Amino acid sequence: MAEAMNSSRHIRVAADRRGSGIDRKALWVVSELGLPTIVKTCVSCRSTRHRPTGKIRVNANHKLLDVWLLICCDLCGRTSKIPVHERVNVRALDNERLLRFENNDPAMVRQLTMDAAR
Ligand SMILES: [Zn+2]
Repeated sequence: MAEAMNSSRHIRVAADRRGSGIDRKALWVVSELGLPTIVKTCVSCRSTRHRPTGKIRVNANHKLLDVWLLICCDLCGRTSKIPVHERVNVRALDNERLLRFENNDPAMVRQLTMDAAR
């Protein structure tokens, strides 16, 4: 009698767990902890593995801007630059985006790293 009740409860629980988002959540945590490796050949040691330094460099020349994502070699630590914008007119960038570049905004660094690692 008691056994029959238990088994019907088990069936209901199993049905409720269908479609849970556990796998997705685990994936999200992984991408939060470690940014992907950027493949680029280091001019010093020829290693191809780079990681972001967390910094973005903005260089203004009159009204033209260069923006780079700074990365460093996994092996020797040499810093390299990945062009984000080259010789772009300052008016072509909206202020909010420019501020995020200048402040090394972590979300922006992450986004540029994802783009560069593709
Ligand atoms: Zn290197």
